[in-house]
Amino acid sequence: MQRLRNNDKCWCGSGAKFKRCHGDVRRLQRDPVELGSVSAERPVPEHITRPDYVAVGSVTTPTGLQIHDDESLERMRAACRVAAEVLLRTGAAVDVGVTTDELDAVAHDTYIELGAYPSTLHYGGARDYPKSICTSVNGVVCHGIPDSRPLRSGDIVNVDVTAFVEGMHGDTSATFCVGEVDEPTRGLVETTREATLRGIAAVSPGEPLRRIAEAIEPFAASRGYGVVKEYGGHGIGATFHATPHINHCITRGDTMPFEVGMTFTVEPMLTTGSGGYRQAADGWTEHVVDSMPTAQFEHTVLVTPEGREILTVTEDGRTAAGTLDELQLPA
Ligand SMILES: [Zn+2]
Repeated sequence: MQRLRNNDKCWCGSGAKFKRCHGDVRRLQRDPVELGSVSAERPVPEHITRPDYVAVGSVTTPTGLQIHDDESLERMRAACRVAAEVLLRTGAAVDVGVTTDELDAVAHDTYIELGAYPSTLHYGGARDYPKSICTSVNGVVCHGIPDSRPLRSGDIVNVDVTAFVEGMHGDTSATFCVGEVDEPTRGLVETTREATLRGIAAVSPGEPLRRIAEAIEPFAASRGYGVVKEYGGHGIGATFHATPHINHCITRGDTMPFEVGMTFTVEPMLTTGSGGYRQAADGWTEHVVDSMPTAQFEHTVLVTPEGREILTVTEDGRTAAGTLDELQLPA
């Protein structure tokens, strides 16, 4: 896979070298990740139904392919609508000086108002995730825990939402810009958004799963970005993390076909630097070692007879990542 090189002309059409334009390392570079303090647990009212792992400490629902009939699909749509609404309201609260813990509070209150349980809260068995969303700032690849750090102008933050309601999980995320974000970093965010929608557009019944990676990885490389290999999308429905594993990097042998009624996530993480990352001391936060920014978007997707449908959309058709209709794919 040919990744755009420093002395190549930038993908944006400016005519400048990549390293002087969207690949400008000095403008992309961020401070190393610092973990803030994590607030006390936010309570969930008794009337909200919990997923099995909260009480049992482990997943007891089947983890196989999540394939829906009409009845379960209605419930799946409901969970995905809630997730989309929580993400939009939380994203609207992103601002300079707001802490990621405050974003967690906005999300938590919205889940509850809409009758949903925040799927991440007490997920992970012994590791026991403590919050209602993940907030991954700058060089945090994923699974950042909301904490006391105020967002600063120039930051980017991924907000990852999963709602459990009517026995189903709906999962969606988006990366938001805080205050004044420089053009190289905006280019990363926009490319990641488009890569996600291109991956989704490649879903079609009977085609192999690797069509998603084929749509994402070369596109990212053509703009000088890497794609995280180890984290992929996942089957989702009655089970939060189910089969299949959805690769965003092209993988030989990724031949399982999409089946009508399957639901899973597409959620590529794009990197600007070396792409190497490690886990922080909190046991969750995955951050790149070179402090270069990363971005991610995510939707829950249904395979339909005609192709695919994004389920993580609000009642009135909004999502934090736009829609396939807005994506002008080259013919
Ligand atoms: Zn450029």
